[in-house]
Amino acid sequence: MPERLIIAIDGPAASGKSTTARLLARQLGYAYLDTGAMYRACALQAQRKGVDLGDERAVQSLLQDLDIRIEISGETNSIFLGSEDVTAAIRAPEISALASSISALPPVRHKMVELQRKLAASGGVILDGRDIGTYVFPNADLKFFLIASAEVRANRRWLELKSKGIEADPEQVLRELIQRDKNDSARALAPLSKASDAIEVDTSQMSVAAQVATLHRQVLKRLDIPAVLLAKHSGFCFGVRRAIQLALDASQSGDKVCTLGELIHNPQIVGKLAEQGIRLCGEDVSNSKVIIRSHGASKEVLAQLLSRGNEIIDATCPYVKRAQEMVSSMAGCQVMILGDPGHPEVVGMISYGDEKTRVVQADTDFGTEVWDTLCIVCQTTQKISDLQTLVTRLLPKVKELRVFNTICRATSERQQSAQALAESSDLMVVIGGKNSANTRMLQQLCQTITHSVHIENETELTPDLLTDYARIGLVAGASTPADTILAVYNKIMKIIGNTEAATRFEEIPLFKEESC
Ligand code: C5P
Repeated sequence: MPERLIIAIDGPAASGKSTTARLLARQLGYAYLDTGAMYRACALQAQRKGVDLGDERAVQSLLQDLDIRIEISGETNSIFLGSEDVTAAIRAPEISALASSISALPPVRHKMVELQRKLAASGGVILDGRDIGTYVFPNADLKFFLIASAEVRANRRWLELKSKGIEADPEQVLRELIQRDKNDSARALAPLSKASDAIEVDTSQMSVAAQVATLHRQVLKRLDIPAVLLAKHSGFCFGVRRAIQLALDASQSGDKVCTLGELIHNPQIVGKLAEQGIRLCGEDVSNSKVIIRSHGASKEVLAQLLSRGNEIIDATCPYVKRAQEMVSSMAGCQVMILGDPGHPEVVGMISYGDEKTRVVQADTDFGTEVWDTLCIVCQTTQKISDLQTLVTRLLPKVKELRVFNTICRATSERQQSAQALAESSDLMVVIGGKNSANTRMLQQLCQTITHSVHIENETELTPDLLTDYARIGLVAGASTPADTILAVYNKIMKIIGNTEAATRFEEIPLFKEESC
């Protein structure tokens, strides 16, 4: 359980404090305390009672009777005067100005600060205001000072008022804001100022998401939590490793070697193999050793090669082979292959069946069709959830349903660990060939949980892709080489201003989940 921090966010009006604090509190599971709301409630009461702020005794009596209550539920603050909810009423422009004046009075500040310290004492709280880092919590665990140009801030305030149906003159909003900045900075007790150990963030040009991510990254740093994590099961699987090794071994012999289609769906690896002389088979494969790629090949293609006398190196993934054998052993039964009809693995698999074998997807429309017996076999890289959907949909239509879960373990593990990491990431970067079925499945899965982007390698990464996200998860398909994953990791670290590059793939911090 990470330490629960007290986080101070100070800055002038409309610099982005409360929006950022609220969203950050939600992401961290912290409480948010809007200290400005307390001064506003105090000002509202003074206005209602017609208290002269220059009259010390009147102010003292106001404070004595003041019954301010703040209900905090995560990032939501509701503020009450007695039993009346004044959360909306305190936002009126005249209350902003009055709050600024009343907050300069020492007895008011003493009362509010005492309450703020009490409310935030146990940590796990983000407080925003003017004096949090300098006065309320000078020992806060993390301090931020948000700034933005007066024009940008005034425009934000104007838009905020407009969204509430309040028509205001933009010039006047700017004038009042500048006046309020002056009051807040010039007062004697706890004026608005940046603590020497506060991190300054200029939000003038930032989106809200970028502001939150900027602060969140600092929180992670403070807690020593890596901002970038790799899903535990990522990169080459057994079948891919074996296929590459078989191809390299074959090329060592000095014979002509070619692969029937891309050995694996990764352009970097295909390019590297080509450099070693291992190219795709052309029209003429005579005098060549032919490598059957990891996805397998159809029965007909194999028979043709054998009849031509080609030496065959079978790099079909053993799990794909098992799925082919399943289809073959089900001859006579209505077999449904859950998969992508155009994918080479499925093209190979279907050739092992008969006229009753067909390729389906989880959402295939079966109309009024019904069956006595049905068998389901899967392309090895399918999503388990799609298999579950298909089974649920077919069950009412069939007397006997036989399901062969031929989704390979490597695929399941990658999907599970990607899913677990996505749950706690703001962005998932899925790395692998754009034509790689298992990588595309990872992308599909991740994007149902969080923001997700599928890239083939580090050249596709740009800073604007990452600015809005703090916790970044990486997962790589079964055909993605370790050096590509390493290059992506290091580029992300560089973009987010983290200098701790990894020199080896094994140094990338792993996401550890009990379940995978
Ligand atoms: O942040 P907000 O605009 O709601 O604050 C209203 C006023 O309350 C500010 O202009 C400032 O004068 C006062 N304030 C303060 N100290 C805080 C928070 C707000 O003096 N910690």
